[in-house]
Amino acid sequence: MGGNIITIKDLTIRFKDKIVHNKISLSIQEGEIYSIVGKSGSGKSTLLRAMLMLQEFEGSINILGKEIGKADNKTKNAIRRQFGVMFQSASLFTSLTVGENIAASLKENVKLQRNIMQDIIAFKLSLVGLDNDVYNLFPSELSGGMRKKAALARALVLDPKLLFLDEPTSGLDPVSAEDFDNTIKNLSKLLNITVVMVTHDLDTFFNVSQRACILGDGKVLAEGKPFDIIYTDDKWIKQIFFGERGIKFQLWKQKQGSQS
Ligand code: ADP
Ligand code: MG
Repeated sequence: MGGNIITIKDLTIRFKDKIVHNKISLSIQEGEIYSIVGKSGSGKSTLLRAMLMLQEFEGSINILGKEIGKADNKTKNAIRRQFGVMFQSASLFTSLTVGENIAASLKENVKLQRNIMQDIIAFKLSLVGLDNDVYNLFPSELSGGMRKKAALARALVLDPKLLFLDEPTSGLDPVSAEDFDNTIKNLSKLLNITVVMVTHDLDTFFNVSQRACILGDGKVLAEGKPFDIIYTDDKWIKQIFFGERGIKFQLWKQKQGSQS
């Protein structure tokens, strides 16, 4: 694992007089799977959008050695080409097949012969564990889990250094969600990609993340390894992990214990 690939310092984001992030700082290391958790409305997606250069901010965000707040368009575009992004809605174009969806992302950026393009797409599909048969299927013909994987294959099409995922397992049944978790873990190892993931799925949080931050009350409440940051007196953290949904977490911990 390398040094920091993203360093955020004193980041403030406000909408009119509402402050969503109040001078927050955090850092993401090269090659790790980093999760951003927090209650709904705590600013997870807004933080992700700031890193993706889709959201104005005060303070400093350094990505791949560049201050994105000060970067010119050429630099921003060069950084963006290292990004793979999967938004919450995992929105594939419904009128295009899976293959055409992935090809569309590729064509925006490079000119390639048709057969080379097909090989690249087939490879990306296999990376996320999808059979090449889905190439010619429309999104509506896929299960929820397969749609997410197709969106993931599309996010990987330009061999990103950084993969950003917003709530990747939302709307999936537990089995498909766990399957998606494993796909992320395998990809991160295989491709040595850095994954930045917003999630409120506690199973995904504990299954996948190597480090994480917990957002709440406009601040970073904690940052570190999942099991190091959840045991605290902080009332927000307690609410997230030891409230009603925390029961799931307790069961999960029991299961891990009985397996080891
Ligand atoms: P999360 O992803 O953690 O659920 P969001 O980042 O979507 O939270 O939103 C954080 C807060 O910022 C919310 O209160 C939301 O209403 C507000 N917000 C987000 N985007 C905008 C916007 N474009 N204009 C005004 N308020 C916004
Ligand atoms: Mg969100």
